[in-house]
Amino acid sequence: MLSSVEILELLKTNDQQDLDWLWREADVARQKHVGSAVHLRGLIEISNYCARSCWYCGINCHNSHLARYRMSADEIWLCVQLATNFEYGTVVLQAGEDPGIERNWLAELVSSIKAETDLAVTLSLGERSQNDLECWRQAGADRYLLRFETSDRQLFEKIHPPLQKSSDRFEMLQQLAQLGYQVGSGVMVGLPGQSYHSLVDDIFLFSSLKLDMVGIGPFIPVPDTPLYRQWHDSLGRAEQVPNTVLMAYKVLALTRIVVPNVNLPATTALGSLDKAGRAEALQRGANVIMPNLTPARYASLYQIYPQKKEMSRDYQANDRLIKDLIIALGREVGRGPGSIPQVMEMPGPFEEPPA
Ligand code: SAH
Repeated sequence: MLSSVEILELLKTNDQQDLDWLWREADVARQKHVGSAVHLRGLIEISNYCARSCWYCGINCHNSHLARYRMSADEIWLCVQLATNFEYGTVVLQAGEDPGIERNWLAELVSSIKAETDLAVTLSLGERSQNDLECWRQAGADRYLLRFETSDRQLFEKIHPPLQKSSDRFEMLQQLAQLGYQVGSGVMVGLPGQSYHSLVDDIFLFSSLKLDMVGIGPFIPVPDTPLYRQWHDSLGRAEQVPNTVLMAYKVLALTRIVVPNVNLPATTALGSLDKAGRAEALQRGANVIMPNLTPARYASLYQIYPQKKEMSRDYQANDRLIKDLIIALGREVGRGPGSIPQVMEMPGPFEEPPA
């Protein structure tokens, strides 16, 4: 097990031997604990309406230049059918924090997806009420993604202004687990004001929160958001974590070593900044890819950050590219929902635990 001092050193190192060691250890841990399968989760960005004013995000409610959309159930179903055709194991329904996504409407959609397909359903809709979360879980939703973004409480509160009351994402992650969701969280790397020490805390938190999935991506500055200027001013400060792909790979690899049995996506933010990002990430700890299935006319409006990789409009070609990459790396395309083994092997309430 790596100590916090060792993690700190590895986060700061530029020594090629250290880095080669880090990538290798992460790859070995990935193979040993979650195997060679790369699980595919079809991402559907169902709405870009957002009630929040997050300082980092391009679809925050103050962005009045952005045309807003909310997909209909029929439109979402077309994307779900694509996921089935491509034999993905999961669909992820993601959106801004949009009160227009109504509890019963979504519950109906989730239960119909669960009834008519074998897909696992993941939701990523921001901070929603306990009643919403309970209802969607009952409708059959399997997983929920909510990044805590940074363990630095002060920084989080600054960049994520409260709506009515201040947010407690840790409490919500706990609620989600209690409701029986598989829980995903994660952070951005290189937020202005983020320190190396807080990143070490982030990595240990991934472990103590017992997460099923951890999303890690570089912070990408968005013009016309409050964090853009601060990012510019923070460049070169000694304790400032750079928002580079290299730094994000380091956090990814360290997470795989510290929390070996977890799903780690090669995130879109990584792929956006670096053409080889997905391939590199898959060789440095990642075992999940989330191909984007959002219709192009909406995907271009779901601009949480500007360099979001221009997705091919041809879903078929995009799917082929990802599967070819997986094979070229000597890996295999995951089958089924791709839950982490500890979830699948958990004894049910009526089963005897293994002796
Ligand atoms: N409204 C949902 C989904 C947000 S988008 C929610 O708040 O949970 C999913 C993730 O994208 C966020 O959690 C954040 O970590 C990431 N993200 C947002 N803006 C970003 C930016 N400028 N650079 C990199 N990642 C960003």
